[in-house]
Amino acid sequence: MSEPLLQVEHLKKYYPLGKRWFTKSQQQVVKAVDDISFSVLQGETFGLVGESGCGKSTAGRSLLRLIEPTSGKVRFDGQDITLLSPEALRQKRKDMQIVFQDPFSSLDPRHTVQRILEEPLIVHGVGNAKERQGIISRLIDVVGLTHSHLQRYPHQFSGGQRQRIGIARALSLQPKLIVADEPVSALDVSIQSQVINLLQDLQEEFGLTYIFIAHDLSVVKHICDRIAVMYLGRIVEIADKNKLYATPQHPYTKALLSAVPEPDPDIKPQRIILQGEVPSPANAPVGCAFHTRCPWVMDICRSMRPELMQTEPGHLTACHLFSGPDAGEKAI
Ligand code: SF4
Repeated sequence: MSEPLLQVEHLKKYYPLGKRWFTKSQQQVVKAVDDISFSVLQGETFGLVGESGCGKSTAGRSLLRLIEPTSGKVRFDGQDITLLSPEALRQKRKDMQIVFQDPFSSLDPRHTVQRILEEPLIVHGVGNAKERQGIISRLIDVVGLTHSHLQRYPHQFSGGQRQRIGIARALSLQPKLIVADEPVSALDVSIQSQVINLLQDLQEEFGLTYIFIAHDLSVVKHICDRIAVMYLGRIVEIADKNKLYATPQHPYTKALLSAVPEPDPDIKPQRIILQGEVPSPANAPVGCAFHTRCPWVMDICRSMRPELMQTEPGHLTACHLFSGPDAGEKAI
């Protein structure tokens, strides 16, 4: 691991809601991703976690420009991809691929696996027919399928096998970065570890960099090097996985981790039960977005948004308990 392969700066994705023509109020927006910044090192697996609706998938798609971000910069391999023309972006996509959560809906049911794997190669003008066949043979081997599978259609496979096809397709253009968007959450638990192990083996073999999006913190712990926790479109904490699990700082991270099942029966976890629902991103609370549910809320939290700040080397937290002159005393 060395230089950042990806630097995301102040990325926002807002969706306008219909304007109420009979009022003078400003047009409402849903802030699906609200000013997030992070970097991902070459060869790293960076986790984006949070409850469903926190904006993690929108963030993953915005940084690939599969959906256009509202604002912000995404520097990939030294180039700001938010400035690229459609043709330049198409070329760049070779290096940035995605694996989707639902392998069934992301694979064209009318096409055989052979065609699914060959299509990106044809679109990007890779090799002649014989060379492409060589690449497809290798892909099918590395994801643990057999050559007899090439003439079958997606519905003829199990969920785990379909995800292997999705991974093979993502690998076909030899990308540098793969955004894996909940890649195992639609799979049986028994199959999840096979796919996770496959992703780890492929990372080692091809030097891949991953952004791994998930809501399941035990899966993330297994595969990620560093983890960013998102709440209502914002990143509230970033840390190395060992630090995050051993000494979480943000109250929301603590609550999420307290809900992870503990395999050791002698350890009695202190479950933190959060009150209330996640607020709507169309009407996010002023100040700290978590203040309506935070057990440690203070007056300042209701009016001032905490910035994501370094609290110790490599550990960033957005919480007033960790900012200000007497932060050390306030820290829980
Ligand atoms: Fe809780 Fe305040 Fe920290 Fe927000 S800033 S997480 S409300 S203590």
